Parts: sequence; structure tokens; C-alpha cells
Amino acid sequence: MRYVSTRGGTPPVGFSDAVAEGLASDGGLLVPETLPDLAPELGGFKGLPYAELCFRFLRRFATDIPDAELRELAARSYSGFERSEVVPVLELTPGIHVMELFHGPTLAFKDIALQLLGNLYARQCAIRGETINVLGATSGDTGAAAIHSMMGRPGSVIVMLYPDGRVSALQERQMACTGASNVHALAVDGSFDGAQAVLKEILGDVAFRTRLRLSAVNSINIARVLAQSVYYLYAWLQLPRDQQAAAEFIVPTGNFGNVLAGWMLQKMGVPIRGFRVATNQNDILHRLFSTGVYSVGEVRPSLAPSMDIQVASNFERFLYYSSGCNADRVKAVMREMASKGVYRFANFDRDTFTSSRCADAEIPGIIRQVHRAFGYVVDPHTACAFKDVDLTRPSVVLATANPAKFPETIRAAIGIEPTHPSLEALKARPLVRRKIVADPAAIRAFIEAHAV
Ligand SMILES: *Cc1c(COP(=O)(O)O)cnc(C)c1O
Repeated sequence: MRYVSTRGGTPPVGFSDAVAEGLASDGGLLVPETLPDLAPELGGFKGLPYAELCFRFLRRFATDIPDAELRELAARSYSGFERSEVVPVLELTPGIHVMELFHGPTLAFKDIALQLLGNLYARQCAIRGETINVLGATSGDTGAAAIHSMMGRPGSVIVMLYPDGRVSALQERQMACTGASNVHALAVDGSFDGAQAVLKEILGDVAFRTRLRLSAVNSINIARVLAQSVYYLYAWLQLPRDQQAAAEFIVPTGNFGNVLAGWMLQKMGVPIRGFRVATNQNDILHRLFSTGVYSVGEVRPSLAPSMDIQVASNFERFLYYSSGCNADRVKAVMREMASKGVYRFANFDRDTFTSSRCADAEIPGIIRQVHRAFGYVVDPHTACAFKDVDLTRPSVVLATANPAKFPETIRAAIGIEPTHPSLEALKARPLVRRKIVADPAAIRAFIEAHAV
């Protein structure tokens, strides 16, 4: 399988290069040149354990990795999950399912993609005999998941910048209390945007980046999307036969990565009925899918912070495939979006997508309702997906974080504070906050001193 840019300006590359490069050099995103037809294989997929299903799916895409190695890599990526099913699917009431995506090391769904990506990076470093220094800026979940995908790996260092005082106490501990010598979590003064600006400046210094073999944690690596398609397939295979063609997946959405992964699977011949794009008050995608108009707004902090996003970076891949792989059209649309901040789509696939918006004030009430109706506790992100669930049609709600990561919100909603042993253990560790000023020179010097 070869990977091409959504903007058509780079020669095709193989899977391993696509993973290593992350972003295409023409500013586009890398996508598989064709999407395989999985329909003839679906019968044979039924009943496979998660890691084996992941292997069977990925081998269509990672064609430059030998089968035995890929199978082992998939098994290793999911062996650290706390449930043997990896992503358990529960039925709350007839037809209404929840898929729990939060049983990885940081208790949020980003682990599913990043555990695999960490192993892919490590394999590449081993083959090329190289070390790797990874730099990222985070407002919470992504940083923790990236750290846990790299900690303790020989030949690698990860430096993660987070805004001092603006990530949750538990998220900070997940990053700063690992005890791993190759992990450096730095509390930067100022906002997330400030940390992000420093990161961009450092990564933009090509000489520095090349000399230190610096690589960015990014949300747009194609391996992340493919790793996420696997759990849609896993859930779909578990549905009762009479619900398979009718079920809608309800997806708490930030930058569209999660929805895209499901939609691509549908394009591969898995008969999924459709997707609900569930946003919080940062509703750019709800506005897009309900009116056809993409218009960037201001980010307003919410109780579901990992969805506080106003640019849907993965949307470009959707645009590419839905325009019939027309890179010129993608370029034109992206240009207009960038210059005007607004784009009006004439024809949209309203049959596949529905959408919803959950105001911040509604989140506690939904957590209470779901708890009362089903005796089930959802985190604030998953709560957004439970808004107006239609109990008369089959659906799969994606649960993206363990509620124990948001104890204050849950206690305020239902008077119970959920806990988790791994978070309790973290609370017992000493937190040594390493502060640094939001100054590229200071952070460059830190990287120089700690890189491998
Ligand atoms: C990142 C995240 C999301 C949003 O995922 P996208 O891929 O950005 O759509 C939702 N919930 C949680 C808990 C997250 O960490």
C-alpha cells in the first residue's frame, strides 16, 4: 500500500515512511492511495481477539512490515490494557451499547492509537539504528498518552510542554510522576497557545531539529487513524446480526480523528449505518454537519476539555475521499478556509452523518440521567455523546475516558467520586513540578542537555 498527500504534491511513500514523516511535505495529510474492500473478509473476522483483529486489519495497510512482526507488534501494543477484551462492549439496555475505549495506561482513548504508534516508532529506530527525541505540547490527554507510549524505551527521550496550572491535577501527575528517566514533563508559564507557539518555533528551526533528530507528537499521523478504525470493526462484529446494518456510532468529537476512522471503515465495505458527530459547546463540527457551513469560532473552555477544539485537522482527509480523491479540490477548499475562516459546502452526506451539540451546563444533568437510567457512570466527554440518545434504534456510544479522571465533575453530578487504583497510586507519589519559562532559548537549552 502506498500513501499519497491529500494535496497531491508529493510522491507516494510506503507505510513506514508515512508513519515516520507524519505530515506530507506539501502541507497535506498522508492517506492510503486506495481503500481495500473488507466485505469478503468480514465472516473470517468474527470472534477474533482484539490484537489479532488489529493485525488482520493493519496488514492491508502496513504492507512493508512482515506479517509475523506486525502480529507481534499489535499483540504488544494491547497487552498493557487492563481488560483482556481491550475495548469491552456493554449493552446498557436492549440496542444501546457502550464501547469502553479507556482501559489503556492513561485511562483515555488516545492510548489505543499511541500505544501502537510508540511501537512503530521504536521498530523504526531499531531498524535504522537511530535514537529519537520527541517534543510535544499538550493541554492534557494527548501528552499523557504520548508519554506512556514512550516511557522507559531505550534510545528515546520525550519532552512534553504543558501550561502551568491549566491541566487537571491527575493529568499533570500522569505526565510528571512516571519516574521514567527518559520522560521530561515541563510546566510552562502562560497558556497552552503559548506552549504551542514555542513548540512551533523550535520545530521550525530545521537545523536544530535535524541535528537533534527531533520529532513532533502529532494528532494527524495516519497510523493513529488506522489504529482507531480497528475498534469500530471490533464493535460492529459484536453486534447482534439484526442490529449490524442499523446501528449508529455516536462519537464524542474534537478534531474529527475518531469519526474519520469509523467513516473510512465504512468506505472499506463494512456496512455501518452512520455516525453521530457529538460535540461540546465548541461546536464547529455540529454547525458544519447541520448547516454545511464550516466557520471557525473562538475556543471556550468546557467540562470536556479534550474536545475544546475549533479546527478539525483530520477533516482534510474526509474532504479528500469524499471529493473522489481530488487533490485540486482539497487545495482549493483548504485555501479558502484558511483565508476566509468560512466555507460553504453545497452537497453533504446527510445520510451517513448526524450531529449534536452539548452545552456545558447540560453535562452534569446528562451524567445524572445516564446514572439513574442505567446505573452507569460516564465521563464529561462521553456525556456529550449521550445527549438525546434515541432508545428506539440500535447504537454504539464511544466512551472515551474513565470517569475517575474527572472526579470533581462526577461528584457534583451524582454525589459519588469515582476512583481508579492507578490514579490513587499516582496521588501517593511526590509531584516535582519542573517549571520553565515560555522562551524558545530556555527550552532549546533544556532539549540540548537531555536529548539522546
Ligand atoms: C481526544 C479526546 C476526544 C476527541 O477525540 P478526537 O479524535 O479529537 O475527535 C474525546 N474524548 C476524550 C477523552 C479525548 O481525550
